[in-house]
Amino acid sequence: MKFVDLYKQYLLIKPDIDKAIEGVIKRSSFILGEDITELEQRIAKYCGVKYAVGLNSGTDALIYSLRALKIHEGDEVITSPFSFFATAEAIMLENAKPVFVDIDPQTFNINPHLIEKKITKRTKAIIPVHLFGQPADMDPIMKIARRYNLFVIEDAAQAIGAQYKNKRVGSMGHVGCLSFFPAKNLGCYGDGGMIVTNQKIIADMIRKMINHGSIKRYYHEFVGDSSRLDNLQAAILNVKIRFIDRWNLYRRKIAKLYETLLDPQFIKAPVTLPKTKSVYQQYTVRIKNRDKIQQDLSKAGIPTAIHYPMAIHLQPACKNLGYKKGMFPISEQAANEVLSLPIYPELSNIEIRKIANNVNKLARKYAGKQN
Ligand SMILES: *Cc1c(COP(=O)(O)O)cnc(C)c1O
Repeated sequence: MKFVDLYKQYLLIKPDIDKAIEGVIKRSSFILGEDITELEQRIAKYCGVKYAVGLNSGTDALIYSLRALKIHEGDEVITSPFSFFATAEAIMLENAKPVFVDIDPQTFNINPHLIEKKITKRTKAIIPVHLFGQPADMDPIMKIARRYNLFVIEDAAQAIGAQYKNKRVGSMGHVGCLSFFPAKNLGCYGDGGMIVTNQKIIADMIRKMINHGSIKRYYHEFVGDSSRLDNLQAAILNVKIRFIDRWNLYRRKIAKLYETLLDPQFIKAPVTLPKTKSVYQQYTVRIKNRDKIQQDLSKAGIPTAIHYPMAIHLQPACKNLGYKKGMFPISEQAANEVLSLPIYPELSNIEIRKIANNVNKLARKYAGKQN
């Protein structure tokens, strides 16, 4: 058993993927070709927005969103300290300051009730993260953003397809960022990302920024960069996007099965907000004695992962920001208790039961209980 089995997925769609890759090579159209345009149109439609622009990673999607919104040195951006590092890293790369707000203990997402008191004259934006595929509580976040005239950049890198009150993540803020990192719920075979937005001005700006400040060949309006999604990746994604709803549904089914199997006395299953649909990029439980349990699971042939073992404000890379241990206790506690169990559409019911049985057994054992 693997934690993620991308080869198993490939074998199920091999003829289509092979044809798509061969097609790109035959046409030898590798950069900014028709595959990208097709993918951008499909993803915009799927997310329920007007525009989408492919980029070479989810991290760059965040960076260029901040840059297009003119967020720079001296600005503050409110975000969660419990995420993949790239969320805060993008803010720091633009020389702005990440201002952390602790998470809701149930959902692992930014707690909207704690946002308002962190707003200062320098605050320019909020980056909610839809962590583990679970939508953040967007209504109160958007309300605060409107009241204080802030931009909202959704970090939807783990959540394409997830819904909040029938809206897809990425479509509610000013701009949404997607990642096609291979292990994400819609992954390509390398690095890839995309921004989605309803604002033409943002889409046009990012499209130029990632292509040397140019949309007309050899005519450069400003100094840009090179950060395009390539056509091979787009062609692969054009095949995979056809399966995204089915795959997300399987993930939800597996999550349901886990929930019925795991012992709630010792294992806290993830909680979804009402009126939301998670896509379970991760199935992350909370458990005491997490490290010992993970080790024993590994010995029993069950791979797990820890997302994430350290809250961002405690990372060495953040030491100049002046945050200390104890400042975001809910995130710090989560970092000590979280354990992600395998979840992907190709996982069999037998495997799921084996995982759940072993987790139950070990959780009871370390709690000092006989089965
Ligand atoms: C994966 C991820 C990113 C970065 O995406 P890449 O494509 O790997 O650059 C950003 N934010 C979150 C929450 C992620 O999980």
